[in-house]
Amino acid sequence: MPPVPDDEPRDLPSTLHVSRHPAVRHKLAVLRDVSTEPKKFREVVRELSWLLGYEALADARVRPLTVRTPLEVMEGEQLADRIGLVPILRAGLGMVDAMLELMPTAQVWHLGLFRDERTLRPVEYYNRLPDSATVDVCLILDPMLATGGSATAAIDVLKRWGAERIKLLNLIAAPEGVRAVTEAHPDVHVHTASLDRQLNEKGYILPGLGDAGDRQFGTGRPD
Ligand code: URA
Repeated sequence: MPPVPDDEPRDLPSTLHVSRHPAVRHKLAVLRDVSTEPKKFREVVRELSWLLGYEALADARVRPLTVRTPLEVMEGEQLADRIGLVPILRAGLGMVDAMLELMPTAQVWHLGLFRDERTLRPVEYYNRLPDSATVDVCLILDPMLATGGSATAAIDVLKRWGAERIKLLNLIAAPEGVRAVTEAHPDVHVHTASLDRQLNEKGYILPGLGDAGDRQFGTGRPD
């Protein structure tokens, strides 16, 4: 892995994982570009999600599996952990397909949280989780970790549900959001493609990429 550059803060929590993979850095620049159209934007969200998911699930558990190759019988492995994907509606939806390609047996549990634009606090409006946890590892999918309000609320919901191993997958994180999540939930690992500079007064990440939902679904207001 290349060294952490000098301009990246050093007092980062050990639960924060910022990908330094060149393919991730390249794709992220495409995603940030204001001229990237929704179709391309969705493609790159998908590609980045795959790469980050691959890194985030490197510690998933496997069990032995006997496999017959054309030449002989051998001991292979199969995934043992039951993985739950929890996309935060709506921006997290674009990350689901890539994660299902990576982990085809994963379950998908949708959680609807929207950010009250006035208070910047999360409001839960949709939750179809069953009564108790049915997975071993929960991966919360949300492209942007801004104030950390939605992520913290989602983790609260999943812990009440009985989830024990929870990871948060973001494409871009703000220091404010990382701080909020790691203070509230020090056991939750955060995987991101970038730790950006700060939030602006409207709660947008700088330099960021704008509204990840609008950019995926083409719903931004014209200037
Ligand atoms: N949500 C987004 O989509 N973008 C931001 O910059 C912050 C929150």
